[in-house]
Amino acid sequence: PLEGRSAIVTGSTSGIGLGIAEALARAGAAVMLNGFGNPAEIEDNRGAMAEENDVDIAYDGADMSDPDAIRLMVDRAVMRFGQVDIVVNNAGIQHVAPIAEFPPEKWDAVLAINLSSAFHLIQATFEPMRKRGFGRIVNISSAHGLIASPFKAAYVAAKHGVIGLTKVVALEGAEDGVTCNAICPGYVWTPLVERQIDDQATSHNIARDSVIRDVFLKNQPTRRFATVEEMGALTVFLCSDCAASITGTALPVDGGWTAH
Ligand code: NAD
Repeated sequence: PLEGRSAIVTGSTSGIGLGIAEALARAGAAVMLNGFGNPAEIEDNRGAMAEENDVDIAYDGADMSDPDAIRLMVDRAVMRFGQVDIVVNNAGIQHVAPIAEFPPEKWDAVLAINLSSAFHLIQATFEPMRKRGFGRIVNISSAHGLIASPFKAAYVAAKHGVIGLTKVVALEGAEDGVTCNAICPGYVWTPLVERQIDDQATSHNIARDSVIRDVFLKNQPTRRFATVEEMGALTVFLCSDCAASITGTALPVDGGWTAH
């Protein structure tokens, strides 16, 4: 459904972003990958994705905390693909600490990478989308964009902010064929979650299995992790012509967590 479209997916060297990039490529879109990681591994992924799907796949290592680098990445995508039809703001980091101990520089980094980067990337791609009369912006928020948990001040604030930004962009793009939606995953099995499981196991001194069962999936009624394939499939749908009337939403994909 996305033949002829081109996309930028931030934070797509790992986890959800990688799953979304793969799904977009399978649906026929050209994709600009972004994120950190081992250069050889990234190049292998890029090559395989291009070959398997017969689409153009590029990579840009822009640091999402650097607005100039974000704008340069957009320039490169436009040079390579001609235009950017789809933007997926997915790059994100987490920091877990009580407020009294929350390092201010971590607050700044979480806000910059999880929230401000989305603004900068949208700002750099929005007007051309509106002029062409088509655009799809998908922001990866979180169940923590809708509800809170302790010790995640910056993350919860940033993810709530992403939903606010989503609504404004939806309103500004509404008459010009540009939609903007937020996906709010519960726990998805990715390296980010794996690291958190290890952190919590260490800090609470409990076994990894108990962390998974009693901490992570305690609030997720399905008692299973969502998958990156599920995030990819929803993103492809939101980017398709069929989703033209879906805009300004925050869609929970959380196994019923926020239904509590
Ligand atoms: P991950 O750690 O596996 O991947 C994060 C990606 O972001 C990587 O590609 C990494 O290189 C990139 N990245 C990090 N900092 C960056 C920076 N400064 N500039 C550019 N790229 C950067 O994480 P994930 O679990 O796949 O999470 C992806 C998104 O989904 C995040 O926004 C996260 O908050 C959100 N999310 C994840 C879950 C979950 O359970 N995994 C749940 C809700 C929301």
